Amino acid sequence: MTLRFHVWSIGCQMNTADARRMSDELEACGGEACDRMEEADVVVLYSCVVREAAENKVHNELERIRKVKAGRPSMQIALAGCMVEDDVTDLARRYPFIDRYLSPKLDLPLRDQVFDFLDLDAPYRLDPEDAERFSMVSQPVTVSQGCNRRCTYCVIPFRRGVERSRPSAEIRREIEGLVRRGTREVVLLGQIVDRYGRDIETTLARLLADISEIDGLERIRFLTSYPVDFDRELMEAVASLPKVCEDVNLPVQAGDDDVLRRMARGYKTELYEGVVAEMRSVIPGLGLATDIIVGFCGETETEFANTLALLERTRCDVVHVAMYSPRANTASLKLWPDDVPLEEKRRRLHEIETLQAQVSVEINAGLVGSRQEILVEGIRRDKWYGRTRSNKLVFFDSATSEPGQVLPLTITSASSWSLQGRLESTPTLKTLEPPWPQPD
Ligand code: SAH
Repeated sequence: MTLRFHVWSIGCQMNTADARRMSDELEACGGEACDRMEEADVVVLYSCVVREAAENKVHNELERIRKVKAGRPSMQIALAGCMVEDDVTDLARRYPFIDRYLSPKLDLPLRDQVFDFLDLDAPYRLDPEDAERFSMVSQPVTVSQGCNRRCTYCVIPFRRGVERSRPSAEIRREIEGLVRRGTREVVLLGQIVDRYGRDIETTLARLLADISEIDGLERIRFLTSYPVDFDRELMEAVASLPKVCEDVNLPVQAGDDDVLRRMARGYKTELYEGVVAEMRSVIPGLGLATDIIVGFCGETETEFANTLALLERTRCDVVHVAMYSPRANTASLKLWPDDVPLEEKRRRLHEIETLQAQVSVEINAGLVGSRQEILVEGIRRDKWYGRTRSNKLVFFDSATSEPGQVLPLTITSASSWSLQGRLESTPTLKTLEPPWPQPD
């Protein structure tokens, strides 16, 4: 009998990456993925608690599972991701039907977690690299776990533990396996990805050079970066390694030094702006994204205005903005009241979004007429789409494209969110030779 499994995930790209690896392992044990949780023998939920809204969605999903499992008691349920605390007593009381908890602090290889969960013993057919499944062009890959910083608002260190890097050889094997199944771009993930390797005597720059050697891999991105840890060596690696894209995610969180101090971010706006300036001088064509939290404890109108001003000066390509949401165990929860009213948080969020829509449309308009290299990801409502090296979404018409191609386009128009492009008529069209054997 085939084991049918359903892996659900929400939240950050690290959950997406871990959920994909879990699916691979389950498939390698002979399992078969199914889209509907109602048909699965095994359900794994990759949960998120970084904000209350995400946590609520996990609770909704667990309530849905409660009903399904009532009718199919043989279903096995595992809860993974950041909802899993060291002490799961409360969760177990609320959701007694959960069979296993997979802590993001656990450093057991994923495969062992799967076996542990399924109560299987060796030997099993084990060759994840054999697993043939449809694979997307761009895939996230976790390179380090945990975080040693203690930003006062953030729950992640409590749930994911201290910083641990995965061995480079293991990462390389995972990526080689992905490339054999059609992946052309990887996004390397860590809470502070720039710190990759500090615990195992290597660096992210070296990892980037190492995986650049993988044939068939076209592009490499990485996130999330932290201003204090993004050093010159890394900037130069991004600038000089052809596969590494000119694309950096560098959260600033606030543009006011007092707010940054209360957040315990460990830098001032001046440092942030200095790093951005240096990066832009070393990495031409850089696409820059940042994160902002609005309505942090005690954030005044003036402090918020300083954040707007910083965004106007920095002119990022993308800004992810979230309203502050107090989280269990965090210092901000213990120290200060959540005193910015929800209405005011919403207003600040919209104000940033409005400003950024304007900045983005100006930046994107500047690309009209330029030639951009696109990695084709797919087709949506008759339009092909892909991304530029700087991570901008581009739509274009083509009769012959395929996901995974790298194509030269000329940008013809732009909005805040995306670009339109035209295939160049005399393309130095680069069709990738699949590295795997082709059927006749
Ligand atoms: N180390 C990662 C953290 C991921 S959390 C990083 O630096 O990006 C992703 C984003 O969620 C953070 O950048 C922050 O902007 C936001 N966030 C984290 N905790 C939050 C909270 N308590 N309330 C609102 N937003 C939060």
